[in-house]
Amino acid sequence: MRLIGLSDNLGQLRVEFAGCNMRCPYCVHIRQPMKEYSIGDVVDLAKRSESEDVYLGGAEPTLQKDLLPLIEGLHAAGKSILLKSNGMKPDVLEKALPFVKGFVIEIKSPLDDIPAIMELTGLSEERSTKYVSLLRESLNIAKKKWLRVWIRVIPEFIDTGTIARILPDIEDASEVMLYQFMSNPDFDLPFKGHDKPTPEWDEVRKLGEMLLEKVQKVRIVGVGGKLLLENN
Ligand code: SF4
Repeated sequence: MRLIGLSDNLGQLRVEFAGCNMRCPYCVHIRQPMKEYSIGDVVDLAKRSESEDVYLGGAEPTLQKDLLPLIEGLHAAGKSILLKSNGMKPDVLEKALPFVKGFVIEIKSPLDDIPAIMELTGLSEERSTKYVSLLRESLNIAKKKWLRVWIRVIPEFIDTGTIARILPDIEDASEVMLYQFMSNPDFDLPFKGHDKPTPEWDEVRKLGEMLLEKVQKVRIVGVGGKLLLENN
């Protein structure tokens, strides 16, 4: 399998896969160098590690043919697995369901805004439309276990108006994470003229408070650090 990262820090083994079926213009990860590993390399590392949690992310893990055997190997080793996805491969999420603790799935904009999705993903109009139905299927599968919806707050696409339109799709998610765009240079390339963290921290917080209407927990990550908003 091709990886862009393999690390074991702070109680979590992180396996970052190379390659994605989207071409998001702000994505660092699809432009990083990759290295080949075997399933055995990763499972052996997991067995030696004291970390109980394994995060499978990257770019897009669900494209790797070795993903399911790897998940089964990690599960057999007693690890608790979180699988990240852009939601384009619900068939893979369904197969992973019995072996994982939960999922992290990104929503990039309201799902009825095909022009925004095209701009944010680099997909054609036809593929963007198909993506929306696959993403909805993926969200429904993930909600059977534990789901964190991940939203990258790029101000032209995510604001109080668009968050209101996203609310129905996040209902029944376990939590939402809002990430302030450009707040971690390892995650983003400049886009739409933004080369510094944006929008303001208070604005991201306001969006988080709106999301509490539909979910129990909202995590905010950005230059202000990490903030957990929770319903009582
Ligand atoms: S941002 Fe996510 S979905 Fe977009 S290209 Fe990168 S890994 Fe793929």
